[in-house]
Amino acid sequence: MQDEPPVVVLRLGHRPGRDERMTTHVGLTARALGADRLVLEDAAAGRKETVTDITDRFGGPFEVEVTDRPLGRLRSWDGAIAHLTMYGQPVQDREDEIRTAHRDEPLLVVVGAEKVPFEVYERADFNVGVTNQPHSEIAALAVFLDRLFEGRELDRTWEDAEKRVVPKAAGKRVVDLDDEA
Ligand code: SAM
Repeated sequence: MQDEPPVVVLRLGHRPGRDERMTTHVGLTARALGADRLVLEDAAAGRKETVTDITDRFGGPFEVEVTDRPLGRLRSWDGAIAHLTMYGQPVQDREDEIRTAHRDEPLLVVVGAEKVPFEVYERADFNVGVTNQPHSEIAALAVFLDRLFEGRELDRTWEDAEKRVVPKAAGKRVVDLDDEA
């Protein structure tokens, strides 16, 4: 988020056809809940446009990058690394240390699609489970980011948005910000 070291989400793996919506939703969740950037592998390049389109309409900043060397990104990362995995240590036991690390340096958050190479477990500073039950990378990322930011991401501001949702108890209202100016 603004005024903090960057949080970058690395989405490892993407099965074309099967993972299209999951990868899109990893990106949308990363953006909505306070991450600064998403890194996709080239098999998922088609998802970039959808996430960028949402950022263009509803605001940022949020970047999406595509790489043909996702593990290279992990190896060369200069900062802390948290890998979300059902086999990891409970997020509630490690979140203080992760927040402390993120106060001073960028944080890479790794989520998988299928089996993640063992190198990721070795390279990560924190292998973190959001429960030790199997569920989804989207759910794990959402809970993790909310714990990391302690809820501050819910009140963040959005820059350069074309549209804004006006919260309502019932019904839907979306305003065009050009009309408001
Ligand atoms: N066996 C995998 C694992 O290591 O968690 C489950 C694969 S799951 C379909 C895809 C991704 O969801 C995983 O790579 C992991 O990032 C995330 N995930 C699933 N369950 C999780 C949990 N309980 N805690 C943290 N991350 C989880």
